[in-house]
Amino acid sequence: MSAESIPAAVAERVKLVILDVDGVLTDAGVYMGEDAEGRSIELKRFDIQDGLGVKMLMWGGLDVAIVSGRVSAATAIRARELGVEECHQEPDAHKLKVVEKLLERKGVAWDQVAMVADDIPDLAVLKRVGLKAVVANATEPVIRVADWQSTRHGGRGAVREFCDALLQARGDLERIVDEYVEDRSRT
Ligand SMILES: [Mg+2]
Repeated sequence: MSAESIPAAVAERVKLVILDVDGVLTDAGVYMGEDAEGRSIELKRFDIQDGLGVKMLMWGGLDVAIVSGRVSAATAIRARELGVEECHQEPDAHKLKVVEKLLERKGVAWDQVAMVADDIPDLAVLKRVGLKAVVANATEPVIRVADWQSTRHGGRGAVREFCDALLQARGDLERIVDEYVEDRSRT
């Protein structure tokens, strides 16, 4: 598979999209500091175009889950803002058990799942899903198993590129954009 196209048959099977956070929804950087009282502060930079892509997936009838291997308030805030209810933060990247439970709860099979990943904490889950997507700057072991790779880096539009490609392959992209523009054309 190339960055431009995802086979329609693969795309049409997808019901759930799992997004990693650090390095996928962010550039993998974490801003660390403390406030005037000496309390730790951790901030992350999220991409607005990625966020709209996530919403477009949901408008297209897809389920979206955020699964992080690191616990951070910034991630929970971003998930809430996007309306992503399935936001799971697993310390030490024990992602497989949380995803297994999620699939069972939602009645979704592994081949109906797409994941966007960047590094080895994603591999246990990524290896099992039906559509394995990775960002342009993913690490080598992750690229090796990928079906699709974005041309953009994590936190710099990679997720949006994936969302557009997935919706395009499902034949939904144009309709979703048209509906969005039409809605914003009302005065
Ligand atoms: Mg990551």
